[in-house]
Amino acid sequence: MVETFNISVSKVASSRLKNLSLENLPFGKHFTDHMLEADYENGEWTNVSIKPYQNLSLAPSLAAIHYGQAIFEGIKAYKNANGEANIFRPYDNFKRFNKSAARLEMPAVPEEIFIEGMRQLIEIDKDWIPAIKDHSLYIRPFMFSSDELIGVKPSDKYKFMIILSPTGPYYAAPMKIYVEERFTRAAPGGVGFAKAAGNYGGAMHATAEARKKGYDQVLWTDAFEHKVIQECGTMNVFFIIGNTVVTPDLSTETILAGVTRDSAITVFKDLGYNVEERQITIDEVIAAYDNGTLKEVFGTGTAATISMIRELTYKDKVMSFDTTTWKGSPALKARLDAIRDGQYPDTHNWLFKI
Ligand SMILES: *Cc1c(COP(=O)(O)O)cnc(C)c1O
Repeated sequence: MVETFNISVSKVASSRLKNLSLENLPFGKHFTDHMLEADYENGEWTNVSIKPYQNLSLAPSLAAIHYGQAIFEGIKAYKNANGEANIFRPYDNFKRFNKSAARLEMPAVPEEIFIEGMRQLIEIDKDWIPAIKDHSLYIRPFMFSSDELIGVKPSDKYKFMIILSPTGPYYAAPMKIYVEERFTRAAPGGVGFAKAAGNYGGAMHATAEARKKGYDQVLWTDAFEHKVIQECGTMNVFFIIGNTVVTPDLSTETILAGVTRDSAITVFKDLGYNVEERQITIDEVIAAYDNGTLKEVFGTGTAATISMIRELTYKDKVMSFDTTTWKGSPALKARLDAIRDGQYPDTHNWLFKI
């Protein structure tokens, strides 16, 4: 049975959109007129409301700030050439959100709030979805513990929210990547598979150290020997070796199951590639590079879709690539763009109409 919630709506008197052009906005800086907010109290969800985007008033003892029960999602909505607005695979993010919630001992958010709330919110702020090529509306659902108590325990109260941010083309220049051998993002039994805020905080020092050395991001490896490849920064990673697309499998629960990763696997199969989800080590990558079969290396994620890797450094081994000659990842990008733009049939039912 689907629970039904009364979503109360209070709208702004006048939209801020009048004073803003949606062209080329930087990622994550501007937010639409409205937001969704819901509270979990006494074992149930309540106060589901769409209201003007505004500051929150929170106690300094707020549990989330101290103990980090905080999770989020990242989703995009697009307008196609006919002006129709769609959200890309929101049910996949909904399921992943509740997996993250379970791992952090937080309550599940009902579909009626996550999906239907999102749909209503976007409908109200529909004019904020840029109708410009490569632009989108970034959707950020999140939840945090809201007990006002610094005792260590799962919180009794939580807040779930959705905010929306119009964003311009996220051009990801081909990256220089450092294979990380000291710091660890995720270990078996940990929270690496959850989209937990703390995973990002925990990764920032390693990333900053790599930046100081002139790299854009790190390639995360396993916690024990730093040989088995996990992810590239906050993106899933893919290798094309010969005619085979290889990406790390999800079995160790150290990898975030990206929706873009899943879309990439599906599209590559549609395009006739062999796709293997399996363990891949840095030694295998170096061997493939040395024998000339390593064709492409790239990351996938909602923000940039695909980020090519032009240089990969492991100890003193530097592997460099001429990304301008690549065929596989550009074909993947073109197909995903075409599906979103309505130029190619949505055979996998990825688009959710607003
Ligand atoms: C969000 C995220 C990804 C990409 O997931 P998408 O659903 O494709 O956006 C990959 N790795 C990490 C660590 C992430 O947090």
